[in-house]
Amino acid sequence: MCRNNLRRPKKKVSEFGGCFVPEPLNTVLARLEEAFLEYKDDVAFIQENNYYLKEYVGRENPLTYAERLTKKLGGARIFLKREDLNHTGAHKINNVVGQILLAKKMGAHRVIAETGAGQHGVATATACAMMNMDCTIYMGKEDVRRQELNVFRMELLGAEVISVNKGGGRLKDAVDEALTDLIENYESTFYLIGSAVGPHPYPTIVHYFQSVISKESKRQVLEKEGRLPDAVVACVGGGSNAIGAFSAYLDDKEVRLIGAEPIEAATLTQGKPAVLHGFNSLCLQDEEGNPLPTELIAAGLDYPGIGPEHSHLKTSGRAEYVTVTKKEVLDSFQELSRTEGIIPALESAHAIAHVIKLAPSLNRDKIIVVNLSGRGDKDVAEVKRLLEQ
Ligand SMILES: *Cc1c(COP(=O)(O)O)cnc(C)c1O
Repeated sequence: MCRNNLRRPKKKVSEFGGCFVPEPLNTVLARLEEAFLEYKDDVAFIQENNYYLKEYVGRENPLTYAERLTKKLGGARIFLKREDLNHTGAHKINNVVGQILLAKKMGAHRVIAETGAGQHGVATATACAMMNMDCTIYMGKEDVRRQELNVFRMELLGAEVISVNKGGGRLKDAVDEALTDLIENYESTFYLIGSAVGPHPYPTIVHYFQSVISKESKRQVLEKEGRLPDAVVACVGGGSNAIGAFSAYLDDKEVRLIGAEPIEAATLTQGKPAVLHGFNSLCLQDEEGNPLPTELIAAGLDYPGIGPEHSHLKTSGRAEYVTVTKKEVLDSFQELSRTEGIIPALESAHAIAHVIKLAPSLNRDKIIVVNLSGRGDKDVAEVKRLLEQ
């Protein structure tokens, strides 16, 4: 099954993606792909997923016209896709709910996940509580120490958090432990990946569940403005909110798709092809080809690799990827708070930072849709500290 590394099988073949894993895992992933292909077009499955997206996540969320920010910048009109209004405050829950439903269909009663800063772990623990699934979260020892409150949150939600001491005790080591668990327990256990990364079929699955973002935004912008946007902008970590924000526009060539990366981890701008965690994509690496450790203000963007579909969109020229600096991010965090009364997640502030540069260069009849991937409550203490420095 893993021979097939195509994201959109009838279109152009991409060299990125694939499934470079040892044999026992190959079989587990083939089984996952089979289940996904069976359920993704199943009417009852789609209805059930839509039920939870509406009643639990709170979709659909609005596409808000950012009137004051638009007027202040004096260029293109800016619309915010409000993923920050989802339950748990970010887009991650879209993918989590979908994958847990898939896990149930596959007969699993236990979900495992990796987490770095804790955002994916909290989203997973949340939905597992609601859907009555056992939940184990693997987290590097260093991250457990730094994200004490998120560890408590996950435990409050009924999850077991396992601190990983092996290796450097970081995200990479947590992924390795989760994969070992999966190989041993795949009959009962489902591994829920948090971004558009990992071996095939995970990037395809995450794309599928996050595409609700752009399906909604496209319908909403057509309703409000009677036409498609000129540009869609999203921040890029592993790439899941960006792929969700882009997917419905991929065939609309007149819509520019723009991903904003932190300049300290500009995977798509500076990365080179490599296999990391079982898939081929662009990756930040040192001279020996080892993945470079990154250290960022937005923990959710802290990954040296990138979802393979973004590497493909970059090399094919369909999407553009830009970088923003830490200062631009901190400025845009405050700017959106003051002009619109919305405190964005530091990750989302990367997208806003690019929009602040882009909008004034475009005419007033142009439209920009920016994906507000999450809310900033989790970041206010850190921003306070940074501003006081
Ligand atoms: C995790 C996270 C991101 C980055 O992950 P992607 O997979 O690139 O979307 C961005 N924004 C928020 C709010 C996050 O929690």
